[in-house]
Formats: sequence, C-alpha cells, structure tokens
Amino acid sequence: MTRSGNSALNAARRERELRELGDVGIVDVLVVGGGITGVGVALDAAARGLRTVLVEKRDLAFGTSRWSSKLVHGGLRYLASGGVGIAHESAVERDILLTRTAPHLTRAIPQVVPLLPNIGAAQRVLVRAGFFAGDALRRTAGTSAAVLPRSRRVAAAEALRMAPTLRRNGLRGGLLAWDGQLVDDARLVVAIARTAAAHGATVLTRVEATRVTGDSAELRDALTGETLSVRARSVINAAGVWADRVDPSIELRPSRGTHLVFDAAAFGGLSASLTVPIPGSTSRFVFAFPAAHGRVYLGLTDEDAPGPVPDEPEPTDAEIDFLLDTVNTVLREPLRRSDIRGKFAGLRPLLRTADDSTADISREHAVLHSPGGPITIVGGKLTTYRQMAQDAVDAAVTHARLPAGPSTTDRIPLVGAVSGAARDRIPAPPLLVERYGSEAALITELAATHRDLAAPVAPNLDVLQAEFAYAISHEGALDESDLLDRRTRLGLVTEDRTAALPSARAAFAAQR
Ligand SMILES: Cc1cc2nc3c(=O)[nH]c(=O)nc-3n(C[C@H](O)[C@H](O)[C@H](O)COP(=O)(O)OP(=O)(O)OC[C@H]3O[C@@H](n4cnc5c(N)ncnc54)[C@H](O)[C@@H]3O)c2cc1C
Repeated sequence: MTRSGNSALNAARRERELRELGDVGIVDVLVVGGGITGVGVALDAAARGLRTVLVEKRDLAFGTSRWSSKLVHGGLRYLASGGVGIAHESAVERDILLTRTAPHLTRAIPQVVPLLPNIGAAQRVLVRAGFFAGDALRRTAGTSAAVLPRSRRVAAAEALRMAPTLRRNGLRGGLLAWDGQLVDDARLVVAIARTAAAHGATVLTRVEATRVTGDSAELRDALTGETLSVRARSVINAAGVWADRVDPSIELRPSRGTHLVFDAAAFGGLSASLTVPIPGSTSRFVFAFPAAHGRVYLGLTDEDAPGPVPDEPEPTDAEIDFLLDTVNTVLREPLRRSDIRGKFAGLRPLLRTADDSTADISREHAVLHSPGGPITIVGGKLTTYRQMAQDAVDAAVTHARLPAGPSTTDRIPLVGAVSGAARDRIPAPPLLVERYGSEAALITELAATHRDLAAPVAPNLDVLQAEFAYAISHEGALDESDLLDRRTRLGLVTEDRTAALPSARAAFAAQR
C-alpha cells in the first residue's frame, strides 16, 4: 500500500500486498473487477490520493474488455440515434487517449466504405452525411485534422490500395473517414492497472470478492483458497456482465458481439477498416480491420444473450454465416469458413431498459447505488472508461465523504506513453514500440543481455521470449493463459496458441 511509484505487477508483489491487506484495517476504495472499468476506477481513486484496492477474480481483462473491436470510437453511431451527449463524450475521450494518455497504444485508422452497386443511393448519402457529422464531432472535441484527417471521397485505385481484395467490377471509389484504434484492448487494461499501481493502488488478480456490501467484502484468494474480510469506506462494483451477481439489485441485459480472425493475407494486406453496410440497415456495418500478430478481425454482431454468463462466450454458426455473407458482398473472391483461423465473442454489459432489441439499448453508462450495497458502475464502453471511472469515484467521494480532490486522470499518461519525435528515438524495433511504447527499450535490453530471450516464442510468431519474461516480471501474468490470451493475443488462433505454449511454460519454469 506504499506509494512506491513502481508500476511492475508480479507474483511477488501480489503475495506481499495480499498479506499486507490483512493488517490495513480499512481502505478508502475497494474496486471489484479488473476490466477496463475497474482499472480505470482504481487509477482515478489512487491518483486522488485514496487508499485503493482492486480485486479481480481471474486476470486483468479476463472479461468483456478483451473481446472488443479494439476501436476508440468517435461515437458516430450514437449520433445517428440522437445520442448527442454520449457521442460528444466519446469524441472527447478518444482525443484524450490518442493525444495524451495512451498515444503509444492507439493510432488513427482509416475506414473505407466501398462504393459498389450493392450500396444504394440513400445508403451512400447517409454514410456521407454521417462522416460529415463525424468531422464536426472531431472538431468540437478539439481533435486536429493532423491527428484524425478529414473524411473525403477516394478514387477506386485508392480504395483498392487500402483494401486490395475488394471487387473491382463496378467499384466507383470509396468514402473514407478516420477513427481511433487500439493496439489491443487487453494491453490497454494492463497499462492502466500498472499506472494505478504506480500511484499506490493495490491490484490483486485471482482474488474474488464475495458477499459484497457498501462497506465490506469477503475476499477469496483463488490460488490458495484462503479468505479475508476487508472493510472499505466505499466499495465500487465494476464487474461488467457479472455486476448483477455482485449486487443482485442490478438488472442487466447482455448482448453478444462476435468477431472472426483471419490471416492478414486473406485480405491481401488490408491497411484500413473495410466497412460494409449491412443490407437493410442505415446505421450498422460489418467491418474488417488489421490487428495484432499479422491478423485481420472481422466483426461485429449484436445478439440478445439472456441466461447464465459464460466465462468465454461462444459465437454461433448463424453469426459466423452473417459476418461472412456480409463481407463477401464486397470481395472479389468470397471468403469461406476454411479461411477462418479463429473466432471470439464478448458480452456487452448493457443495463436492462425496455424490451427493445439490444442494438437500441442505451450504451451510456450508469452509476447506481442500492441501499447498503456497493456503488455500481456499468454500461458504457472501452473508449469512455476514464469518464466512467471519474463519475464512479465522484459518487464514492460524495457518498463516503472521502478526503479527495477532483479527478486528474485526463492528464496522467499511462505507463509507456510516448509520442512524436521521442517515440522515434526509442532504441527498439517498431513492432515492440507499438506494443510497449517507451518500455520497448527494456524488452530490447532484456533480449540483448539474455540471448535465449531474443528468439521468437515459436517459429513464425512475432512475439519474443523476452516479452513473455517481461509480462511475468512487470505485467502481472501469473500463468500461461495470461501470457497467451491477454498479454499477447496469440491464443486467438488455436494453432498459434499450441505452438507458443511450451515457451509460455518455460518462461514460468525459468522464474522458479
Ligand atoms: C463484441 C464487443 C465489441 C466491443 N467493441 C468496442 C469498441 O470497439 N470500442 C469500445 O469503446 N467499446 C467496445 N465494446 C464495449 C466494451 O468492450 C465494454 O463496455 C467494456 O469492455 C466493459 O468493461 P468492464 O470493465 O465494465 O467489464 P469486464 O471487462 O467484463 O470486466 C469485469 C471484470 O470483473 C471481474 N469480476 C466479476 N465478478 C467478480 C468478483 N466477484 N470479484 C472479482 N472480480 C470479478 C471479471 O472477471 C472481469 O474481468 C465492445 C463490447 C463487445 C461485447
């Protein structure tokens, strides 16, 4: 619980801090859940000087936060449904991530809507109008065109340069707009958790909160089975789709979103988000975009997902067909099921409002407080995590009269944050700089001093043994799955996961 300024999370720190927690007496803020929302809350509270403890029952980003589309949205879609407030909030938060807090983990991505005969005149006009509105949103959020260029129409040759497997026949160019993209969602969660730790927060994974009240919780160490009671001036429930288990007064209506994973080669070296209007809809799209480890992700569905919440949701056959059929409307050679290398699905933690389709349920976040229960922060999205965290901690400060000033997180760069010329001077390969920002130099140093760590974790995979070692010493990875499924995303393709598993095991064996 000391303010060490040390951002390294690892098994030794976890063990020490868990032991110390028994002697602490009472903490200011106990956060339940280590997804984007929970780690955001922990950073916000710790940076205000509050004694903060976060518990996550599995691993950082174990839940929905690793199954997203990895976009830092400007909120255009919300504008289409009249949500001006949430659209503006998204655009402001996008700017903060791109320019101040996480320039190393975010980048601008072009989105191209191909103008093919299957896109009707009305759809084209609506997309163009939407892109103009997106430009206005960007300007009102203070994001310069140097960060996210203006939307425009492009010629067929340029559309093909960005998306080489597009159908040429009948292609009259494309509509182009820019948005933000994350290097990876799980990596953002880890960076925020480590930044919170550097501000004095205790971040404990493999610790489940049970019997949560407004000022206490039972904690269970999943590694030893030991339990511990913790008292807190304020308890914040950030358990995402599990929030209603932590506080049964919450009513959620989760919706499932599915992505498919392809080799980049299947899309001929796609350099934009290929954005395909869903036939019959004016505001929904299927999109394919370049992602980590030389892959392309294709998403996204929106399906009501009632019933028990699984650890890892499964895409359905109908969703897979829908994604393939929609993207194939614009491709020269149709993609087949045999081209798919992986798939993943996540559950949106949406609040139950009315019996509308989940696609229309508000994506706004809510801070809820039941009598005697914790403060719950739920809904929203990855892009707006910082504002969500600020609102939750504001509520805790007011309710528990905590001695804290206003949020400062819009000015706190996350661990590794670097941009501009300083980024170019980092002595490390671009791929590592993209994943680790300024910390890439540490990985390179590790690989230079321990020659065995300079090798890839398996032939033809773009992850070094040094990255596994670093994830264990600094990024809180406690087992092979943490390495394969969250610190890296190799696990999204089963063959790659199998190939890298021996290295992941060896990395832990080397620690002992
Ligand atoms: C398919 C899909 C695509 C999306 N794409 C985007 C996008 O491109 N951009 C965007 O901005 N947003 C996107 N979103 C929304 C965004 O991903 C979610 O809103 C966000 O990740 C929710 O994070 P969370 O921290 O609230 O929940 P989670 O990430 O699910 O975290 C909750 C955590 O709580 C833990 N937990 C639960 N119970 C307990 C307990 N009792 N004790 C301790 N820990 C507990 C869980 O293990 C879990 O790790 C997308 C969502 C989906 C489903």
